[in-house]
Amino acid sequence: EAKSTQQLFVNYFEGLSERADNFLDMTTKIKNALINHEFELYFQPIFCTRFDEIHGAEVLIRWPQKDGSFITPDQFIKVAERTGMILNITQWVVIETIKNLQRLKSLGFTGTMHVNLSTRDLESESFVEFIEELLKEDPTLSNYIVFEITEGAMMTDLEAARAMMYKLNSRGFEFSVDDFGTGFSSLSLLRELPINQIKIDRSFINNMLTKIADYAIVESTLFLAHRLNCNVVAEGIETKELQEILKSMNCEFLQGYYFSKPLPLERFIEKYLNKGS
Ligand code: C2E
Ligand code: CA
Ligand code: CA
Ligand code: CA
Repeated sequence: EAKSTQQLFVNYFEGLSERADNFLDMTTKIKNALINHEFELYFQPIFCTRFDEIHGAEVLIRWPQKDGSFITPDQFIKVAERTGMILNITQWVVIETIKNLQRLKSLGFTGTMHVNLSTRDLESESFVEFIEELLKEDPTLSNYIVFEITEGAMMTDLEAARAMMYKLNSRGFEFSVDDFGTGFSSLSLLRELPINQIKIDRSFINNMLTKIADYAIVESTLFLAHRLNCNVVAEGIETKELQEILKSMNCEFLQGYYFSKPLPLERFIEKYLNKGS
């Protein structure tokens, strides 16, 4: 049955204010979470196909709740991007990553840590300043940290991204294009920005053994990346079969549940750094 126009308006505005409430609610919750140290970092190993050994880890944020559940990053990162809270989150992630790295290095870990950045980070002057400050304390930092950025985030404000990426690249930081192939992006990014690595999105990896188009995209991405002197990470490796085929295609690095889910630091150490002890 038809609703009156007026009723539709009422519904619309009620929906709107409800969404606004949720939004404000989430902003406050994120702020409190930072103050109360509620966030945690998990680490997912990235494997090197050439030496069959761990190469590094992607740093992934987790927000555990009192009832033992988690608010997933997909649920709060987007809100944090809209409110600007992402800048605080990213700085927290970087500082915490450095702390964890010190422990990992003391146990013999020499790999890289891959930290996710958002558009807002790229556009913020304070982010570069923040990194410069950290470099004063530890000039070797750029050897251990790789920044992952999606094509979409690079494209949002290409000039800002370019300026920031060149500044950090001149300090020795490397950049990885996250979720490659999924956005409305342009291959010219690969020519215009200082990019060292491409991460092929797991949606292509998932289906490459059954869908000829996905196989073709993976194969072509590897070819293009290598021609541009970039190395490649295949995400979402869930089976031995995928591991083997990507190794045979000379994909340098692999990441996925087949190797390990993201782990808290202590579990990561147990699994990868306590060999033989
Ligand atoms: P992403 O950067 O593409 O990260 C990879 C996601 O894929 C992670 O989800 C990881 O747990 C998941 N994954 C890894 N291997 C497999 C696999 O074999 N199969 C499947 N199905 N999934 C796999 P997660 O941790 O839930 O993170 C989701 C997204 O949230 C990330 O996607 C990233 O965009 C964002 N995110 C996570 N942590 C941070 C952070 O510290 N900062 C920012 N800005 N974004 C973050
Ligand atoms: Ca990532
Ligand atoms: Ca990704
Ligand atoms: Ca993703």
